[in-house]
Order: sequence, then C-alpha cells, then structure tokens
Amino acid sequence: MSKVYLEPANSINVYAECDILVVGGGSAGHSAALAAARAGAKNIILMERYGYMGGDVTGGYVIMVPALTWYEKSFVRGIQEEWFTRLDPIPQAVLGPKISQAGSTDPFLVETFKGIHGCVKFGENPSLVRAVYFEPNQLKIEMDKMLLEERDRIKVLYHSWGVRPIMEGNEVKGVIFESKEGRQAIFAKVVIDATGDGDIFRQTGTPYMSLANSETRSDKTALVWRIGGINWDLYQEWLRTRPNADRQMYKTLGKIAGFPSMIIASSRNDVCWVNNWIPNKDCAKVEDLTKSEIMVRDTMRDVIEYLREACPVAFRNAYLYDIAPQLGARCSYRLEGEHVMTVNDFAFAPKYDDVIAWHSTVCPVNDNAPIEIPYRSILPKGVDNLLCPGRHISADDIAIDWLTLIPQCIGTGQAAGIAAAVALEQGTNVRNVDIKRVQDILVVDQDVPLPRHPKTDPDLEEFCEEREYGLYTEVAKEAQAAGDARSVYDPVKLYQQHM
Ligand SMILES: Cc1cc2nc3c(=O)[nH]c(=O)nc-3n(C[C@H](O)[C@H](O)[C@H](O)COP(=O)(O)OP(=O)(O)OC[C@H]3O[C@@H](n4cnc5c(N)ncnc54)[C@H](O)[C@@H]3O)c2cc1C
Repeated sequence: MSKVYLEPANSINVYAECDILVVGGGSAGHSAALAAARAGAKNIILMERYGYMGGDVTGGYVIMVPALTWYEKSFVRGIQEEWFTRLDPIPQAVLGPKISQAGSTDPFLVETFKGIHGCVKFGENPSLVRAVYFEPNQLKIEMDKMLLEERDRIKVLYHSWGVRPIMEGNEVKGVIFESKEGRQAIFAKVVIDATGDGDIFRQTGTPYMSLANSETRSDKTALVWRIGGINWDLYQEWLRTRPNADRQMYKTLGKIAGFPSMIIASSRNDVCWVNNWIPNKDCAKVEDLTKSEIMVRDTMRDVIEYLREACPVAFRNAYLYDIAPQLGARCSYRLEGEHVMTVNDFAFAPKYDDVIAWHSTVCPVNDNAPIEIPYRSILPKGVDNLLCPGRHISADDIAIDWLTLIPQCIGTGQAAGIAAAVALEQGTNVRNVDIKRVQDILVVDQDVPLPRHPKTDPDLEEFCEEREYGLYTEVAKEAQAAGDARSVYDPVKLYQQHM
C-alpha cells in the first residue's frame, strides 16, 4: 500500500465569481468561451495551464485538420472554418484545397495536392478533400485575437491549472486552481471541463471510462517535432520514381525511432512535421509523459541523419526546426455521459433530436460521411452545471478514434458554450437547456449546419440520402446484417493494417 499524507485543511482566497468558467483552452475550450460570448453571455473566465490557447493544436503541433468536406459538400464549418478564413491572408500560414475545390477531379489540382496527406480521396477517380494544414504559431496569435475581440465578456487566465471541482451535493459550483499565486477558488454558474483528460469531471462522482483500447490509435502519446531546410515537392518527386518508397520510409523511420513515426507535409514547402505514436503510454500519468518526452527527443538527430542520407535531393540541408512545446495527448479518460457514442453511430447513421454537430470524420465504416453528435454526449450523468466537450467526449473505445479530431473538439466546444449561454439567459441549468434555441444559434448565428433545421441548406441532407450516408462500405453492410457494428468491426486489425 502506498503511503499517504493527510493534507491539512486551510482557507483559500476566492479569486472570482463568474457566470461561465471554462477550464482548458484547447480547440474545445477556446471555442466554448468564444461561442458563449458571441451568444450573449458575459462574465466568462477561460483558464489555461499554459501560456497560449490551442492545446494539442498549437502546443502539440497537430497541424492538420482532415475531412472538412464529404465529396463536394462542406459539413464542418463554424469556428473551425473561421480559423482558416482568418489565417488565409498570412503568407504560408495555411495550405489545402479550398471549399470550392472539394470533390474536384481536375487532374492538375489532384496532382498538386496528392503528396499532401488527406487532401486527395484516392480510388478510381481521385478527388479533392478539404483538409487544411496550418502554422501553429500563427494560430496561437489568431486565437488570442479572437478572444481579445470579446475582451469585455471573456477574461483569460493563463498559467492557471484547474485542480478540483467545488461541489455542493451533485452540483458543480466552481473550481479550485493553482498558479504562481498559490491555490485559489473561482465560483461559477456553469463549468465547462475542456481539459481533454476530464481533470474536473473525474472528481465529481460522474461515471467515466479510462484509456481507449490499447491497440488502437487513441491511447498513443506523441511528441511532434518539425524539420526545416527541406524541399517537400522534391521529396514527392523522389517518391514518384520509387514504388513503395513511401511505405519503406515509414517502416525505416519506425525502426530508427523504435515506434511508428511519419513525416508529413506542413503549410510550408521547406518544413515538414514528424508525427509519432508511442504505444502503451498513458497521457494522464506523469511517468509516462516524462518517458515519452525523453524517448522521442532521443531519436531526432538519428532521424534527420537518415533522411539526409536516404533522400539528399530533398533533405540535404535538413535541420531540427523546432520541438512542440507540449506532449501530444490523444486520449486518456473519457466521460461516460448521458449518451455514449459507439461504432453504431457510424454504421447506422442514427438521427438525434439534440444534435449539436453534423460532421464528416475520418472513419472507414461510413466512408467519412457526416454523423450526428448529440448534446447528451457532452452531458455528464448525475452531476449538474457541468459540460464536457472535446477529446474526452463520451464515446466507447472504438468510436473515440474518430471523435477526437480537431473539428469534433471545436464543434462540441462551440455547442457547449452556446448551451451555457442559453441556460443562463433562460434561468435554467445546462441539463434542461432549450436545445432548439441552442440549435438555432448554432445554425443561424454561428454558421454550423445541422440536419433537419429549417435554416440549413436542404441540399446537404438530400446529398447524404443519395449517398446512403456512406453506408455502402463492406463493413457497414456487414454491421447492418448483424444488427450491431461492434460484433463485426475489429479496430485492432484495422489499426494494424493502417500502421
Ligand atoms: C500527435 C497527435 C496527432 C493528431 N493528429 C490529428 C490530425 O492530424 N488531425 C486532427 O484533426 N486531430 C488530430 N489529433 C487529435 C486532436 O489534435 C486533439 O484531439 C484535439 O486537438 C483535442 O482538443 P481538446 O481541446 O479537446 O484538447 P486539448 O487540445 O488537449 O486541450 C486541452 C487544453 O486544456 C489545458 N488543460 C489541461 N488540463 C488542464 C487543467 N487541469 N487546468 C487548466 N488547463 C488544462 C491544456 O493545456 C490544453 O490547452 C492528433 C492528436 C495528437 C496528439
């Protein structure tokens, strides 16, 4: 049995009393605070443990957003597309097919983008997909600017670590946080846990799940880093003349590093990023986090040396450009909320009255078709005044793989912020919020298309119907025949084939 120390009780300073407290400023938390302010809420505090917004995205250098369109239709919009509209005028800040180019089979465009992972849907008739690469440091600046525009409504607290919920019975009343100023309390009418690891909801008594299936993508930690002085176009030409060189490169990098590693394009031709998947690590355990940092850094010089020798035409002058300031956390603890998303959400295309996001994702079961994410998947069981958007969304160990992408974190964050604002406006709590009003604000004011909403372009739904919501895949058909996708879908096998 490990030793325990009984910490003496003490009184702490109440730092503030606010309407909405968002803990965690990643893509989910940033969107939640912003959407709440834009929906009319005031007195919002957005607390972040580091000194910038974005979490995995800006700090973990996850610099690619996939599957924003399905065929030629754009389903994921709202704050996600706003990022790119705002970054677009900045030189080399974004790269990827435009919305208007999605679905195009133009051979010139397909040729232009085929070396940029995720931008082309390959097959008999290759076509473009809107997947966007961006410069994380420019996004950091832009995320601050977005908040500054709401400075009268949102107070940002950087370098503040939320450590405990303040509970009264089953109601969350605020959060205790730590900073250089010590331990202090913030009281709030609504708390949004957007820490990605359920740091707050795990201490409320609400049920939650632990790590994803350890053989799938979700439980792998990563430390992303970037290589400069390269020429990505020349690398693509080099690959073209060498069949299977891409696969071979991936295998060799994995051998050198000791874990799967992949070089991927960036928004600049002279820089690429190195994504990696470190198995059997828990991104909510300090020792595993420490090991992951050291393990990946230890491989960087060897990887660069290998690239210089293997492909001098593109990597002769390669150098270590930078290392992500924070470790990449894919998944640790997840909410077991009022609704748990499963692979059946992808294999049967169910419709939900409380839909808050209608997103194309990266999922082989339904060929990346849009699925509906219900409000109940961010609503904890048995605890009030709390919402939990982002990568710790309520999903089982399979579905989580397709729901932690950046758009889904932004989408659920945006909806959480609006729900909090509406609940306060109507004098009710987030459990009983008028979901129709939340949906109206999403669609009408915040550019988020939702199915069956009178103001959403009806073409989108017709388009999905015509294409059977992607349920023409073998695995979807098998699932339909079996009546349950979990019995026919093997995530481990699929992950291993993919890797
Ligand atoms: C290596 C890697 C590659 C990936 N590849 C892709 C990809 O190509 N495309 C894609 O779309 N998605 C990808 N993902 C997934 C995606 O990046 C994340 O799931 C998503 O960005 C998570 O957003 P979030 O806001 O839910 O969580 P996070 O980004 O983790 O944000 C949580 C925020 O809360 C802060 N925080 C945490 N705990 C506390 C606390 N107690 N108090 C205060 N603040 C706290 C953190 O500092 C952070 O800013 C990848 C993830 C990784 C790690």
